[in-house]
Amino acid sequence: MERLYAPWRLNYITGGAPKKAGPTGCIFCDRPAEVEEKDAENYIVRRGAVCYIILNAFPYNSGHVMVLPYRHIASPTELTAEEGCEMMQLTAAMTDVLTGIYRPDGFNIGMNVGAAAGAGIAAHLHMHIVPRWNGDTNFMPVIGDVKVLPETLPQTYEKIVRYFEQNGQ
Ligand SMILES: [Zn+2]
Repeated sequence: MERLYAPWRLNYITGGAPKKAGPTGCIFCDRPAEVEEKDAENYIVRRGAVCYIILNAFPYNSGHVMVLPYRHIASPTELTAEEGCEMMQLTAAMTDVLTGIYRPDGFNIGMNVGAAAGAGIAAHLHMHIVPRWNGDTNFMPVIGDVKVLPETLPQTYEKIVRYFEQNGQ
C-alpha cells in the first residue's frame, strides 16, 4: 500500500525516509545503540530499562508506535519476566498518551511473530500499537490503495514526547 503524506509529500521524500540498518544489520538494535541525543531523529519516544518505544516509520495511522525489547530476540518465549513486564507497562503508558493526544475510538495492539505472520522485521520482536477511529478504513485505502496521514512523523514525535513530559509519565 502506498502512503501519501499530502501536502508534505516532498518533505517525506527528501527528509523523512527511514534510515537503512547500520552496524548490527538490525534497525531495532541500531537505533537505541546510538546516543540519546539522536533519539529525536531516530524517532525513539521513550527509553525504559529493558524496552523502548519507537515510532513506526510506515504508520497505518498517526500515532502508530512500537514497543520492543533492546535485546535481539524473535519470539515472546525468549522474553525475560522483566522484559515482558516492562513491555506491557510501556504499552499501557503509551495507550494513555495516545488517548490524551488523539482521542482514538480504539486500538489495535499486537505482535506479528515470524515473517509468515506478516512481521516486517521478524528477527526482532516488537509490539504494534495502532490508534483507531470509527470509519478510519475509508474509501482511500480500500479503493485508491493510498493512505492519507494527517501529520508527519516529526509532528507525531513532538506531540508524544511533549505529552510524556507534561504528564510526568
Ligand atoms: Zn535487533
